[in-house]
Amino acid sequence: MPLSTRLPLSGSGLDRCDERRQDRDWLRQQWARARLWLLDDDGRMLAREDCAAPLHLDVASLTEACRLDADDALLLGVDADGDVHFAVQLPAGSDLSAPRVGIREAAARWSATDSAGFACAAAVFGWRRRYRYCPQCGGQLSPGRAGFSLICRSGSGCTEQFPRTDSAVIVVVEHDGRCLLGRQASWPAGVYSALAGFVEPGESLEEAVCREVGEEAGVSLSEVRYRGSQPWPFPHSIMLGFHATAADPALRLGDELEDARWFSPEELAEGFAAQRLYAPSPISISYHLLREWLSMQEGEAASDALARMPAAAMGVRRD
Ligand SMILES: [Zn+2]
Repeated sequence: MPLSTRLPLSGSGLDRCDERRQDRDWLRQQWARARLWLLDDDGRMLAREDCAAPLHLDVASLTEACRLDADDALLLGVDADGDVHFAVQLPAGSDLSAPRVGIREAAARWSATDSAGFACAAAVFGWRRRYRYCPQCGGQLSPGRAGFSLICRSGSGCTEQFPRTDSAVIVVVEHDGRCLLGRQASWPAGVYSALAGFVEPGESLEEAVCREVGEEAGVSLSEVRYRGSQPWPFPHSIMLGFHATAADPALRLGDELEDARWFSPEELAEGFAAQRLYAPSPISISYHLLREWLSMQEGEAASDALARMPAAAMGVRRD
């Protein structure tokens, strides 16, 4: 059974309308009545007064100081009511006063629809900020396909550029009723998380899982099971989550981790209770993979550990 929980940052419920992305007439018509999601220079989104959801404005309500160009907008999609949603980057100096919310806070507090829309906008606008020039000729790039591509305007016939999504695997490894978690030296004290790393060219996801666990902990695996995935726009990854079984529990740490250990449900329950151990952030697939593993274990210690997993913990960056 795959991860049953819909993870934060995914599940917008919007129809992305790929077939409309090059229909300029349709895009222009929709722009006039669109619901706008507004990102500031720091990648934060403008929110309602209570910060519980994004602020949606229409083009007509914006002032002269934040005049927007429809060609720079990103078509997020059409909702079930037929409303069309665009994300836009506010110009520097815009005079809109509204609370700003970062994406980690949004992932923790907003609905799936809202946090997923933010994740899409953050990933695409972040990519467009970093890819300013054509990688083939160095020419100027400008948005195409309703914001989902960048097109070189040099006239040299260069390839259209599409947003990057970097694949990373993340895995909770088990052996004889215990799970393997590790920590990096830069993380807050006591935080342990599933092992993770980027997929390399010419490598299957299962091979990447085996290689990463081997590199980071010196453990070889006898079985790898896919559980689910989560967009992770820090800055533009997708996390592919696995459970795996170790062939042998002997550990040999590599350079990336400060520590890695096998934890029984009892040790996790005691560590969470004493606040010596902290689970990864509840917004992350790492948290949900661990939670799912605990829910599959039998006995009181496993249910204790599950009940004690922190509802809110410090975030763990993987960028
Ligand atoms: Zn070019």
